[in-house]
Amino acid sequence: MKAARFYDRGDIRIEEIEEPVAAAGEVLIKVAWCGICGTDLHEYLDGPIFCPTHDTPHPISGETAPVTMGHEFSGVVEALGEGVDDLEVGDHVVVEPYIIRDDVNTGPDSKDYHLSQDMNFIGLGGRGGGLSEKVAVKRRWVHKISKDIPLDQAAVIEPLTVGYHAVDRAGGVKEGDLALVGGAGPIGLLTGAVLRAQGATVVISELSELRRKKAIEAGAADYAFSPAEVDVVEEVKKLSKDGKGADLSFECTSVQVVLDTLLDATRPTGKIVIVSIWGKPATVDMHKIVMKELDVRGTIAYVNNHPDTIKLVESGKLDLAPFITGKIMVDDLIEKGFDTLINHNETAVKILATTDPERLNS
Ligand SMILES: [Zn+2]
Repeated sequence: MKAARFYDRGDIRIEEIEEPVAAAGEVLIKVAWCGICGTDLHEYLDGPIFCPTHDTPHPISGETAPVTMGHEFSGVVEALGEGVDDLEVGDHVVVEPYIIRDDVNTGPDSKDYHLSQDMNFIGLGGRGGGLSEKVAVKRRWVHKISKDIPLDQAAVIEPLTVGYHAVDRAGGVKEGDLALVGGAGPIGLLTGAVLRAQGATVVISELSELRRKKAIEAGAADYAFSPAEVDVVEEVKKLSKDGKGADLSFECTSVQVVLDTLLDATRPTGKIVIVSIWGKPATVDMHKIVMKELDVRGTIAYVNNHPDTIKLVESGKLDLAPFITGKIMVDDLIEKGFDTLINHNETAVKILATTDPERLNS
């Protein structure tokens, strides 16, 4: 079968590999669509980070490069391994793409399996990936979805769940909450979409005019301000009930001035969630955190959030279609996918890839 495989920095090859089979406890999925993520671009430009090198195997998967890429995917169940009796061939599914040690509690009560030692992702650390025709995944990580959700939109559920978990880390949304999102990249937009679907009024702060336009059009924000044109802190305070600022804020840029803005624009006792990955230390004005009793929290990926995120999508309260800005064949992954996302990242949000020409043409 066809697969996009990471060999090394700048070296991803589309090649023929052997088809996987569903071992005991696994589900064989025929991939429909797979999104390209910022993390994939990062591996390509600066990696290997999550991907193993060619001589050091990942401690859990045991695999070395090359590994198949793609962790944001949807598909159709093609076969069930021994012992899997609660899914059927033909079911539509998405994958929570974790590689986690077998002795970690990944039950529905766990709040920290995603933080366990050597955690990695299917499609980065080994175990196949969505940028291929088929992938075999442990039953635990396969989530059935309604056939009413189009499979292209379903491929966006993985990054949407990152936003869902971020909102969960803020304690969820209360009716009438005002939320500020710093940055309208893919995760900022999807976090905004979750917040609005849960009843918050959302303000996005974003320098790029095209991204601000997208935020409003896609339903990710009620207001989108440019920090180069207006005083975002003042605008947020004006929109808040009592002039005191946002109830919840989400940092989705890893940019110092955005963090500073959030500290000023968040109301006393408000919550700030750091969603972006920071490659370097930031400066934090502790006095503001103290004097406003702010609650600053981190968030990474998701933990037991897929079922609720899928329910939210099934409820029809948010539309994932506007976040899909391109569809390509896996064969064109680098030229039409990676290059577009690297060089035209103001207009591209999610580019989805498939190995099936019929899906692309339908
Ligand atoms: Zn991702």
